[in-house]
Amino acid sequence: MIKLENIHKTFDNNQVLNGIDLTIAKGEVIVLIGPSGCGKSTLLRCINGLESVSEGKIWIDGIDITGKRVNWQRIRQKVGMVFQSYNLYPHLTVLDNLILSPVRVQKKTKKEAVEIALSLLERVGLSDKRNAYPAQLSGGQQQRIAIARSLAMRPDVMLFDEVTSALDPELVKEVLDVMLDLAREGMTMVIVTHEMGFAKAAADRVVFLSGGAVIEEGPPELFFEAPKDERVKQFLNRVL
Ligand code: ATP
Ligand code: MG
Repeated sequence: MIKLENIHKTFDNNQVLNGIDLTIAKGEVIVLIGPSGCGKSTLLRCINGLESVSEGKIWIDGIDITGKRVNWQRIRQKVGMVFQSYNLYPHLTVLDNLILSPVRVQKKTKKEAVEIALSLLERVGLSDKRNAYPAQLSGGQQQRIAIARSLAMRPDVMLFDEVTSALDPELVKEVLDVMLDLAREGMTMVIVTHEMGFAKAAADRVVFLSGGAVIEEGPPELFFEAPKDERVKQFLNRVL
């Protein structure tokens, strides 16, 4: 589904990604962890084309997105991304936030888009908020809407970059639960998070980055119970 081969990324003289190889199967849930500044966000941004790579190749469903003449509109529809800040359109209701891109970009009829939006609102437990404006919602509710908005484009892959980091602790679970449901339904996901309990519950594979390289990876049972690399052990000692 996604294949990264020898990915390098340099900003000015700062080598941030240092030869990353990673293959993500359809339906696989990858949790990406590692110290601050190790390149997690940069890697996600390369996967959906928000950053270009300096070297290496990325294929999504067999399409080389590091080549020339990439149809970005098509790729962005395949790859949804949710960030720490929810970035909902403040002047639109929840429902209008959800139908905007399906109607404008995917040329769905309004009726079709509303149908999809309503089923997604139900899925994230916010059907009663369809006519609310973002400012009338809690952070956790806004983040669930942001996830639903991304899902409204019917992506094949979802990327999550620390989507619960800005939330009050009591709101974190409701967002993680939505992601856990998605994982169990078979969505292909790459998730950057500091929530190690969630990683244990949701990940098929945990990937540890340090200095822009994959240092260790494995299923959560092994990764958390028997880490091999000293840098991973130190990191887990700090966060667990
Ligand atoms: P955190 O856990 O703090 O979010 P991260 O692992 O997501 O960290 P990145 O945001 O990918 O790390 O940043 C990795 C490095 O790349 C940092 O040194 C950062 O300063 C640098 N960097 C990221 N984006 C840019 C940019 N647009 N221009 C220049 N440098 C950048
Ligand atoms: Mg980051």
